[in-house]
Amino acid sequence: MAGQTPTPPRIVVVGSCMLDLIAQVESAPGPGETVLGQRLDTHPGGKGFNQAIAAVRLGCAVELVARVGNDEPRSLFLETLDRDGVGRAHVSVDADHGTGTSLIVVDAHGENRIVATPRANLALTPAHVAEASESLASAGALLLSFEVPLDALTAAVALAGPETLVCLNAAPAQPIPDDLAARLDVLIVNEIEAAALTGAAVESIDAALRAADRLRALVRRAAVVTLGEQGAVFAAAGASGHLSAFETDVRDTTGAGDAFCAALAFALATGYAIQNAVGLANAAGSLATRTPGAAPAMPTADAVLTLAGAP
Ligand code: ADP
Repeated sequence: MAGQTPTPPRIVVVGSCMLDLIAQVESAPGPGETVLGQRLDTHPGGKGFNQAIAAVRLGCAVELVARVGNDEPRSLFLETLDRDGVGRAHVSVDADHGTGTSLIVVDAHGENRIVATPRANLALTPAHVAEASESLASAGALLLSFEVPLDALTAAVALAGPETLVCLNAAPAQPIPDDLAARLDVLIVNEIEAAALTGAAVESIDAALRAADRLRALVRRAAVVTLGEQGAVFAAAGASGHLSAFETDVRDTTGAGDAFCAALAFALATGYAIQNAVGLANAAGSLATRTPGAAPAMPTADAVLTLAGAP
């Protein structure tokens, strides 16, 4: 990676805003079981919000296209976006639905279980997305995720400029329509989503490589499968491989995938080769596990580049 000086790209993120209610427990409850939580925290979150914060921490100029409810959490989102410097001219307010909410249980090993209820996110329409057409046309990267309606994502992709690197974090997993897939440069999934999309279990690094290879055929440039503490695999034209995660003192894995996605988009749009970009994304994902919560855990570019050993 020597000799590259990253110039942060402009990134448009189209995705969700979900209020995270995070309960810390010793071990997560099974069916019918109640356990006592050790603490409860409330953070603004959701894949779109987290990815926007992650990208801005990496030094990118970021515009978020999203929808929140006309309720109390709305101001938490808008204030946090303002404080972090994320453009929110296209974060619109829905009169009929509450802000999306995620119920998150984090156990003593930092593993999480999440119930995400999108609410206002489902009211994001192609017309809302079209209001961001100028930003979309000139973006260095467009980062999409699945907690908002497909037609909003398809509209964003149609408005992206010819130079825009289009990345989809296909989470939570759902089938990717051909017209959307055909416009994607990069597809990012975890092992569960990779299994759902390919129909084959992903229980080893070899199986993940096979899944990445199959998913790569759907898109223009690369497919990446994240594997938690095992890092990630990637498949691109002429290159594929596995890169280990960085060892960290894991406190909470919430948001690790979002940090990974933002860093991958940042690195690829900056001009890093896929292997180096996945290395930077692994560093970002690993750093995000060190701090409780998602947005509060997003690392800076300096921290990511230092951990990855990049300039
Ligand atoms: P998701 O949260 O979307 O399921 P993963 O759990 O696969 O995503 O995590 C995304 C990335 O974060 C991984 O590829 C890895 O780089 C990093 N990461 C996640 N968990 C750990 C961990 N326990 N130790 C180190 N890095 C981790």
